[in-house]
Amino acid sequence: MTRPAKVIIDGHAAKKNLEATRLHCPQSKILAVIKADAYGHGLLRMARIFNEADAFAVASLDEAVTLREAGCRHRIVLLEGPFEFDEIAIIDRLDLDVVIHSFEQISMLEHAGATLPVWIKINTGMNRLGFDADAVAQAYQRLSSTSSSIIFMTHFANAQVRGDATVGSQLTTFDTAISGFPEEQSLANSSALLTCVNTQRHWVRPGLMLYGVSPLHGETARSLGLLPVMTLKSRLISVRDVKAGRTVGYGGSYVCPYDMKVGVVAYGYGDGYPRSANTGTPVLVNNVKTQVIGECSMDMMTVQLPDSAEAKFGDEVTLWGGELPIEEVAKASGTIPYELLCRARMRARYEEVGL
Ligand SMILES: *Cc1c(COP(=O)(O)O)cnc(C)c1O
Repeated sequence: MTRPAKVIIDGHAAKKNLEATRLHCPQSKILAVIKADAYGHGLLRMARIFNEADAFAVASLDEAVTLREAGCRHRIVLLEGPFEFDEIAIIDRLDLDVVIHSFEQISMLEHAGATLPVWIKINTGMNRLGFDADAVAQAYQRLSSTSSSIIFMTHFANAQVRGDATVGSQLTTFDTAISGFPEEQSLANSSALLTCVNTQRHWVRPGLMLYGVSPLHGETARSLGLLPVMTLKSRLISVRDVKAGRTVGYGGSYVCPYDMKVGVVAYGYGDGYPRSANTGTPVLVNNVKTQVIGECSMDMMTVQLPDSAEAKFGDEVTLWGGELPIEEVAKASGTIPYELLCRARMRARYEEVGL
């Protein structure tokens, strides 16, 4: 037997989120982002569930190979393009699209003599990947002989904050850089497509919202019409009474303020729970909301057991999902939902419901 942790994936919710995304941008094609094992939800599973998407985006060739080997015929975009020369022949054979963000990559394409569908990435202010605006014409010109089609793209640094001024300035930089070019455009991730209609253009690139999590600071998935797809559960493997004044766990950082019931959950940072989540992080025991106490260990964590939870050995604990928004858990543990989702796959078993 393995550990009692399980990740439950609600396929119906995921389909609804894709439909909801379409309603937000009915004119745009959807490049569904399923990198990082579909944000921890399972690459092939989510490709199947999101089969109504117009294309898929992944971050590395092995993910694209997995999709093709499983029979996926969708257009697939490598978001960071080729990492090395030898990948290009495989990319060509598997009929993949590539993001091209550097002159080194252009040289590789020229050297390989390949003609691929290319997404030219423009740096408009995030200063991570992409050609600066003044290099776009040169990149375009060189790529015109090594590409079968071209789409211009950029990425926003701070669209998750409604009304953030950098979105407008990145937009202006982009529009100036590509003015006069007839090619299709792709700008928006989840947060941009929700907050700024003018970023939607020909292709949108939603990730997080498809998994039913709010991409916007301070806004809930529910308020955006999204349904959480992942629920993470484990079980209590010990229930004990601890006297007032005694400490719980490593370092003794938590001192029981009164006589209390403490539960030990079979889930820890070795399973993907953030070690930074200590006292106060919300959890559900038998669907009653309570909190983590003390420090998270590698395979276990300790929680307060309120009388109303009537908790006993073997009872179910929800770490996020269902009635416990992952956004709350992320906030309490000083991280973002993206990171929590990606880490869930470390050791849990997966179960699928809803379809
Ligand atoms: C990951 C990624 C996305 C998706 O972002 P979300 O915030 O999850 O919607 C879109 N575009 C690019 C280039 C990405 O790397």
